[in-house]
Amino acid sequence: MPECIFCSIVSGEIPAEFVLRTPAVVAFRDLNPQAPTHILVIPTEHHENAAELAQRNPGQAAAVLAATEQVAHEAGLTDYRTVFNTGALAGQSVFHAHAHVLGGRDLEWPPG
Ligand code: 5GP
Ligand code: ZN
Repeated sequence: MPECIFCSIVSGEIPAEFVLRTPAVVAFRDLNPQAPTHILVIPTEHHENAAELAQRNPGQAAAVLAATEQVAHEAGLTDYRTVFNTGALAGQSVFHAHAHVLGGRDLEWPPG
């Protein structure tokens, strides 16, 4: 799926500031950070959103979740937020499943 930005990041065609790479996931810093730490964790396979990923490749879904804890820990965070936006009205703009890992500041609840 060459038109997908995140597939292009997985393939190396588009550069990113990687913090983790395994056969199942890659993690890199968000281009437009919303917190001092803002990392995206994505599966290497293309799936439109988190639920599709979980249904079609539960192993990669679990790997994404495990990686959120790993990258947060490596960033020195004990308290952080993991967000999966699903659908444009919920703020999803890239339709390749991804977890946002946000931390390094007080995070309000409810979110905007
Ligand atoms: P969404 O809005 O779909 O939940 O999250 C997509 C995220 O990807 C946004 O936070 C946006 O800043 C980030 N993003 C979009 N394009 C790129 C890119 O080319 N490189 C990186 N590092 N982040 C990107
Ligand atoms: Zn993709």
